[in-house]
Amino acid sequence: MEAHDMPVWPQDTDAALDAFYGDPDKDNDGAPDSHWEGANLVAIPARWRMVASWDHGLKIRSLRIHWRCAESLGQALDTIMSHYGSQSAIEAARMHLYGGGYTFRRRTSGSRLSTHAYGAAVDFDPARNGFGVPWRDGAGMMPVPVIQAFQAQGWVWGGDWGTPDAMHFQAAIS
Ligand SMILES: [Zn+2]
Repeated sequence: MEAHDMPVWPQDTDAALDAFYGDPDKDNDGAPDSHWEGANLVAIPARWRMVASWDHGLKIRSLRIHWRCAESLGQALDTIMSHYGSQSAIEAARMHLYGGGYTFRRRTSGSRLSTHAYGAAVDFDPARNGFGVPWRDGAGMMPVPVIQAFQAQGWVWGGDWGTPDAMHFQAAIS
């Protein structure tokens, strides 16, 4: 996909997310709709060796994400890999610590579905980028080249929010 073909991501409202990504819980039973999952989620290969941030013994070989933002995520990861150039540089930046993509859950604050529940968000290195912790450059938090790689794809970084979520990137405009 060429840069000019980049999708315009939906606003981060229930209505706009449902319209663009589909409603993951159409019957409102509080559980993901398996039909929606099958129709919308894809797995893209990890571009470097990743482990789960919550269990470093768990290898992450692919990232489960909505098909509509999957190619864009792949391009952000390719940009990050070409910036760092090696697995050891990736690990020094802590970008091998994958915090998760698709997960059916509510937002940390409120009852709305998280953008993770739409398969439209990924987290990296939660331990150093905790929810509510203000981002500071040079403090071992989310590296600027990673933030820029996602922003080049139109993804929104949670580190800019009033309640910061520096681990978080989403293909939805907040
Ligand atoms: Zn997140």
